[in-house]
Amino acid sequence: MTLLRNARLPGPDGGPFDIEIDGGRFGRILPAGQGIGPTFLDAAGALVSPPFVEPHVHLDTTLTAGEPRWNASGSLWEGIAVWSERKETLTRDDVIDRASEVLRWYAANGVLHVRSHVDVTDPGLVALDAMLEVRERVRDVIGLQLVAFPQEGIVSYENGAELLEEAARRGVDAVGAIPHFEDTREDGVRSLEIAFDVARRYGLRLDAHCDEIDDEQSRFVEVLATLARRGGLRERATASHTTAMGSYNGAYSYKLQRILARSGVNLVCNPMANLCLQGRFDAYPRRRGLTQVKEMLGAGVNVAFGHDDVMDPWFPLGTASPLQVALVGIAAAQLTGAAEIDEAFAMITSRAARVLGLGDGYGIEEGRPASFVVLPAASPYDAVRRQTRPSHVVSRGRLVAETPAAPTRLTWPGRDPEDVDFTRARDRA
Ligand SMILES: [Zn+2]
Repeated sequence: MTLLRNARLPGPDGGPFDIEIDGGRFGRILPAGQGIGPTFLDAAGALVSPPFVEPHVHLDTTLTAGEPRWNASGSLWEGIAVWSERKETLTRDDVIDRASEVLRWYAANGVLHVRSHVDVTDPGLVALDAMLEVRERVRDVIGLQLVAFPQEGIVSYENGAELLEEAARRGVDAVGAIPHFEDTREDGVRSLEIAFDVARRYGLRLDAHCDEIDDEQSRFVEVLATLARRGGLRERATASHTTAMGSYNGAYSYKLQRILARSGVNLVCNPMANLCLQGRFDAYPRRRGLTQVKEMLGAGVNVAFGHDDVMDPWFPLGTASPLQVALVGIAAAQLTGAAEIDEAFAMITSRAARVLGLGDGYGIEEGRPASFVVLPAASPYDAVRRQTRPSHVVSRGRLVAETPAAPTRLTWPGRDPEDVDFTRARDRA
């Protein structure tokens, strides 16, 4: 048994605490100074948080920006066309190399749970088989969930339904869909019915790309929520992107809040990618094209923030950092109230964990896996504002990553040379 000492926890009673770690699990949580035993790590009053959770990324497409060509228009649709060309050259090693590299970035950033969509509109299912291998390889550090994602449709793509089912048979964790991309509204509804049917028969979760379009008439999220409620999948179902919400009128939005809250489904907003992808067909004023984050949280719906794309045809930037996603999400969804900033931190930790259904496999409580990050910050707000990399990342009691503190040395007229780390000088004194 060892001790994580002087850990400040998120929330009103932050401590500090001494936390026992035994056999890769948390033991008792005691007031600082009361823990007895060898020190595993002294957090020295820094913020200790459950690990970050990535609820939505595409690891099969990651690190392909510019291949075979750049997405010149920047639209979702050209992105799909560019990816379709790149897909023809996919190999097992290509997928494994790129996905593994970005998973190492995630681990270094303190992300220990990842849900990745994998394109299964490929007769060879090359990416899927590669990602199933990756899931096994990283198991000791990162819990990776895979979603069978029919990028080019279930009904509108040849053998789309068969490929989705084959992916379920090969062992994905969740079934996807893309109803707004299907050829007709009816095909979109049908595609969701097929996805729910596969999820039910294989006992899987469901996570659909849903209404990722600036069309106020794209209303598949109401279908998804209703199927989830009637079929009993409820909080095991997630609607991702849901950007058409940025165009819904007030009366419909209000109706939708009730449908979603009753269903228990989760929403995942991907602010970095969708701020870039949406509104591309608008003149000014130009829409933001995002989930109604503030309103849906207010209605009691679970909403999380995802990265979506790391350097691929849909979003050419990114370092797999959830704190970056939270910062962009706060600006994009106008979550600037003090409690809202804390909520944005929850959207990359506990709320994202709910999307993945991690249950008691997540969180700093006695008996749970001893997985956590140490953030050199006073609070979640401080961590988001200063974009603090975790000084330590620990997965089930094992140290995975360390980032030494590296302040900037500043020489300023009239002052002695000093370290600048963007904390407020007044707070430090
Ligand atoms: Zn996506």
